[in-house]
Amino acid sequence: MPVYSHSRLETFENCPLKYKFRYIDGIKKAEQGVEAFLGGLVHEVLRKLYDDLQLEKLDTLDELLDFFAARWKQAWGPHVRIVRASMTEQNYFDYGTKCIRNFYERNAPFRQSQTLGTEVHLTFPLDGEGKYQLQGYVDRIARRADGTIEIHDYKTSRTLPAQEKADADRQLALYQIGVQRQWPEARGVELIWHYVAFRETQRSCRTAQQLVQLRHQTIELIDRVEQTTRFDGKRSNLCDWCEYKPDCPLWQHPDSVLALPPAQFKADDGVRLADEYTKIKFERDTLELRLEQLKEQVIAFARQRNLRIIQGSGAQLSVRLSEAEKFPGKREEERAALEALLKGAGKWEEISELDTAALAHALENAHWPAALVAEVRRFATQVERVSVTLHRDGKGSGEEKS
Ligand code: SF4
Repeated sequence: MPVYSHSRLETFENCPLKYKFRYIDGIKKAEQGVEAFLGGLVHEVLRKLYDDLQLEKLDTLDELLDFFAARWKQAWGPHVRIVRASMTEQNYFDYGTKCIRNFYERNAPFRQSQTLGTEVHLTFPLDGEGKYQLQGYVDRIARRADGTIEIHDYKTSRTLPAQEKADADRQLALYQIGVQRQWPEARGVELIWHYVAFRETQRSCRTAQQLVQLRHQTIELIDRVEQTTRFDGKRSNLCDWCEYKPDCPLWQHPDSVLALPPAQFKADDGVRLADEYTKIKFERDTLELRLEQLKEQVIAFARQRNLRIIQGSGAQLSVRLSEAEKFPGKREEERAALEALLKGAGKWEEISELDTAALAHALENAHWPAALVAEVRRFATQVERVSVTLHRDGKGSGEEKS
């Protein structure tokens, strides 16, 4: 089993296909979003600040800004991608400068705690046997005079999240597990996020019970990743920042044809197929709706005149009216009582059967024990399932074949 990290798990949660590209296929991309580029350099500057402080040198703000400018110039290149078309390199450079200035002015002279390390690499197990290993790089670890260990994280994002997000954050809480292992004498641990664009700091603490729960949840998530055999793409607004977008089957065709001149766009085989499918589907939906309306009219006509056969030009319509017993559905109140009655009478096995669609869904989503999932999967054979879904105004209507 590989050593997991918060970002590896987060990538899986956000998009299993991106996870596959990066961690299973090991595809590396030189391209980098400007936000990640900028974040990396701000981290570098703040690392220099605290590394120099450990050697009793307090950098001035101007020195740090010069360092930032030099590193920016050195590292900038065509591999840095600006997604927001209205923004320029200068805008991002100025934003980075503001972040560094904010941090400096808010925290100088930086003696609130003693730095124990910057970019600290932690590796630690989540379980007693050491099967589930986690690793991460902490921006800065420091110790206060009262013995409390601080785990610091620098954020250059343009949004300031609510305190609840900090209290639910997984990344630093996982680091706390590693820190407590490395510094068992710590009086306590505090998680600290520096939202440098806002001059704001958020703080959070975790109880021992919360950390036990986090260990369990993370192990369950790792089991889910390990059991995954299909890595589907998940479209979201993160796609614009995804380095695998040019290789992604969810974007390859739209991105390639939307850039074409109108005549070439219309002539593209994919566009023609999609257009014809949409047209026929719309016509079929309209006809189905009309058929339902006609059916209701036919039934009303037959009831009104007490008819059972209605003559047409070349065919007859037969209308059958009958009574049938209807029992409570799965979500109806009486259902539980009915099921209890049948189970109590020993008749449940006779009238119930395995719902294989529900079983497949549970294997994917219900977080069953890994051994049970493996045992159940021994009975499964792989079949290809293909679906075509039409998206209009962001809403999909799908048809599936297998
Ligand atoms: S572009 Fe979007 S859907 Fe495709 S791999 Fe990247 S994140 Fe996933």
